[in-house]
Amino acid sequence: MNIENYIRDIQDFPKPGIGFKDITPLLINPEATNECLELLISTLQDKKITKVVGVESRGFFFGILLAQKLNAGFIPVRKPKKLPFETISASYALEYGTDTLEMHIDAIQKGDRVLVHDDVLATGGTAKAVCDLVEQLGGEIVQMNFLMELSFLNGREKLGNKEIFAAIKY
Ligand code: AMP
Repeated sequence: MNIENYIRDIQDFPKPGIGFKDITPLLINPEATNECLELLISTLQDKKITKVVGVESRGFFFGILLAQKLNAGFIPVRKPKKLPFETISASYALEYGTDTLEMHIDAIQKGDRVLVHDDVLATGGTAKAVCDLVEQLGGEIVQMNFLMELSFLNGREKLGNKEIFAAIKY
């Protein structure tokens, strides 16, 4: 099975010029979803991951599945003012302005071995902000994984020497 066939390209969504990678055809198909999950998991055996951090909102789908498979805790990273308890925050630059992400202050303990997961690695700004949150609380980022990497946007360059895995590369 080629999981790439389950990604739908939507041109000019949500804004003109953006080629949006729609994962709903993948999510609706249990075999394709499982194949993708197995691919992501295959790089994580023996890495002793204790927490999986999923990024709002499409990072939640596979994030929770990965956490269950790894017997690790799942942590949601969310847009501002969504989390009910005390939070820490990290901001990152957008084309125009900045955006902020938040995490609960008690989500990670010092020494936690963390997997960061999101659907797409594009410019890397989001992933970098999530690294900042994890490291503020003393977690160690063992790997960052993505369903897709848009290599032409060079997101990896923002992430230093972190281990990065993408199931599909464009
Ligand atoms: P970036 O911070 O530029 O790496 O963007 C990554 C975030 O934006 C992820 O949370 C993605 O869900 C979303 N994203 C960026 N580009 C796309 C795209 N072409 N298709 C779907 N989601 C995208």
